[in-house]
Amino acid sequence: MRSKADFEHLLWQVLHEGIEAYKDSDGWYLLIHTRCSHLQKNGSCGIYDSRPAICREYENEWCEYDAPAEEGFMLHFRSYEELLKYCKKRFKTWGK
Ligand code: SF4
Repeated sequence: MRSKADFEHLLWQVLHEGIEAYKDSDGWYLLIHTRCSHLQKNGSCGIYDSRPAICREYENEWCEYDAPAEEGFMLHFRSYEELLKYCKKRFKTWGK
């Protein structure tokens, strides 16, 4: 993710409640602080047989109970304002 258009899109994403963005050694990701609508009260998946690929590929060798995820973050934006500040610094022509 490098272009101004990429960051404009990311800005729009972090405008939403419960959405944060971070970059670690693998790339850029969103943190989505909300429950999946298919998570059942007993902790199981309500669409297990047809769950999205990202759920199928997820490995739980490591999780945030092991160590705070933030320890591996190179960049972390909790709000539109934080990310906008970064964009203005990164792109000298931002907003012009
Ligand atoms: S496995 Fe995926 S679809 Fe199922 S509850 Fe978890 S996040 Fe939701």
